[in-house]
Amino acid sequence: MESVQDYGVTLTRGIEPSLHPFTEYFRGFESLPVIRGLFGEKTESVLSDLKVEFFSARWGYMSTSDRDGHLLISTHHLDHSDFRTVYLDVVHELCHVKQFLDGRKLYDDMFAYVDSPVEVEAYRTTVEEARRIGMTEDEIAEYLRVEWNTEEEHLRLLTNVGVKK
Ligand SMILES: [Zn+2]
Repeated sequence: MESVQDYGVTLTRGIEPSLHPFTEYFRGFESLPVIRGLFGEKTESVLSDLKVEFFSARWGYMSTSDRDGHLLISTHHLDHSDFRTVYLDVVHELCHVKQFLDGRKLYDDMFAYVDSPVEVEAYRTTVEEARRIGMTEDEIAEYLRVEWNTEEEHLRLLTNVGVKK
């Protein structure tokens, strides 16, 4: 850590975020075929090494650190979203963990969110899982609706991930 000073105040840089073991808060994911399909026989070791950073802001849901592949999860989202949404979001983020471990770039300014190859791939896996747990195409389309996409982008995402509308 390092201290930097100006305007009469001191800031600290290089703080490590507080991380928790994924498996302490999320159990059973290692048994899901969709997760085993991602990590194969490494499933247990990947999930037991995986860390989560919880934050409590009202904005944001979940994301994956492109620095070390840990998850960032909003406790507000965990507390207030329905079970199915959180379940699918975790599946989606675990796809990004796999991509990170494969050395792929998680954020690429070259693409819009709905066209980003890593996003489309993660959403395709998540959509397959949503169908497996019995969601209708309409329910999946609703699940895929996020406030940062315009209606046109939302429809493009549905096309890109093969959801009928
Ligand atoms: Zn994503």
